[in-house]
Amino acid sequence: LDAIRTLADIPAAQARKRGDAVAVKFGDRETRFAELDAQSNRVAHALIAAGVAPGDRVSVLTKNHDAWYPLFFGTARARACLAPTNCRLAAGEIEFILGDAGPKLLFVGEDFFDTALTAVAGLPNPPRLVALYGAHPAFESLDAWIGDAPATPPADEPQLGDDVLQLYTSGTTGRPKGVVLANRTYRRFLEMATEIDGFAYDEDETVMIVMPLFHVAGTNVSFSGLAQGGRLVLVKDFAAGDAIAMLSEERVAHAFLAPAMIQMMLQQPGAETGDYARLRSIAYGASPIAEDVLRRARAVFGCDFVQFYGMTESAGGGSYLSPAAHDLPGKLTSCGQPWPGAEMAILDGEGRPLGDGEIGEIAIRGDIVMKEYWNRPEATVETVVDGWLHTGDVGYRDADGYYFVHDRIKDMIVSGGENVYPAEVESAIMGCPGVADVAVIGVPDAKWGEAVKALIVPAPGAEVAADDVIAWARERIAAYKAPKSVDIIDALPRNPSGKVLRRELRAPYWEGRDRAVG
Ligand code: ATP
Ligand code: MG
Repeated sequence: LDAIRTLADIPAAQARKRGDAVAVKFGDRETRFAELDAQSNRVAHALIAAGVAPGDRVSVLTKNHDAWYPLFFGTARARACLAPTNCRLAAGEIEFILGDAGPKLLFVGEDFFDTALTAVAGLPNPPRLVALYGAHPAFESLDAWIGDAPATPPADEPQLGDDVLQLYTSGTTGRPKGVVLANRTYRRFLEMATEIDGFAYDEDETVMIVMPLFHVAGTNVSFSGLAQGGRLVLVKDFAAGDAIAMLSEERVAHAFLAPAMIQMMLQQPGAETGDYARLRSIAYGASPIAEDVLRRARAVFGCDFVQFYGMTESAGGGSYLSPAAHDLPGKLTSCGQPWPGAEMAILDGEGRPLGDGEIGEIAIRGDIVMKEYWNRPEATVETVVDGWLHTGDVGYRDADGYYFVHDRIKDMIVSGGENVYPAEVESAIMGCPGVADVAVIGVPDAKWGEAVKALIVPAPGAEVAADDVIAWARERIAAYKAPKSVDIIDALPRNPSGKVLRRELRAPYWEGRDRAVG
């Protein structure tokens, strides 16, 4: 790590040490560190030749693909800032992000040529369009655009203060916000990652990347993997059955999975009998995990589990529950302790620190906190106060210094004056026979203000009766937290990070009314 001062140094540092080692495997194609370094430098030169100056934004619109990596490191090397767009959004939402980021260039994968053309049509300053892979008459090809750019690094050295990534939040609670992250932030991230059990890898170990590269989990696991000389196996589209097969076929040692992915993988027929001999750790986070799912996953995969709690605004950092802490009494439902070098606190409504056991907003402070929200000075001032990042999540800290995240403040249900956290109710219901997936929301209620409703996706072929679900919940959690009603639905709306879009589920029940919370 000593040779890595900024993200831009990762390919060169590894190429000097072991240029022939495989950096990224995507489908049948393998890229070695020496090639990754050369290609990143070419991209950097081509960007500079295209008039991209330090601080300029460059965007990308594609699913996971190995062409992302030279783009990450090339833009960083050119001292520009990569602002990826979430390719799963509709053209109008993509137009919003592109209008916000104002990129000089947009790199597009072949599945998104038409979406990109629609999205840029309305922009006052449309970006230059380059096809990242595939071909289309309206797009320059990547090879032609790179031309004979040299494979040696440009002279101008990246600085720690440079904006290097502008990652958009997952848009779970509203419109995605552009989070500006500097080289300095990622330097801290890489240092901290190697200090955390289950995030520290050995050279040549295989790291499976299934999280989307336009969000912070995908980028972070990629960067820490490559910085430590790991071999990334990148997946274009997550499919639970393929992921299970890949764990044994690719001899995967480490993976980061969203709880929804783990849940789906455990439901695969071959899951229990797979060969996970090489698997050393599964990191999970980005949304709450049901206790039952975590217990089953630990039994089936038999490796270390590490939980991460964090957000785009803290470059993905925050707290982690170490493998060992998973076995401590009462800590399995905790999101752990602060990262080395980060501080956490629980704050009241006025931003004053609360004591152990008191419930309030979780806050994070340290070098991992974002520089700002792009184009949103008011939101930045509201969110980062005296260096404390207000997370919008409710939780508490126990007497041992472990943090517990209940849920998002905006999703909290106030029923008969009591606060109900949907994640806790979902976790209780997940183990109920015949339940494959569940989301809990508050719906308007004349008597209670809001009433708890569970939306259930039954397992294939299973019949789930509302009364059974309610009875199951009442045996496990306080009566006021148990659902008052249950609806059966086909599938839950989730974003690419596997987060349930509760606002979409709530919308039909709240038409024309305002919720007190959120
Ligand atoms: P938006 O801010 O646009 O509404 P988002 O908050 O989902 O979207 P991200 O930055 O990707 O965008 O996600 C961070 C949020 O994810 C956290 O604030 C928290 O609510 C949730 N989260 C992350 N890790 C965990 C975890 N380990 N347990 C529970 N929730 C988590
Ligand atoms: Mg958020």
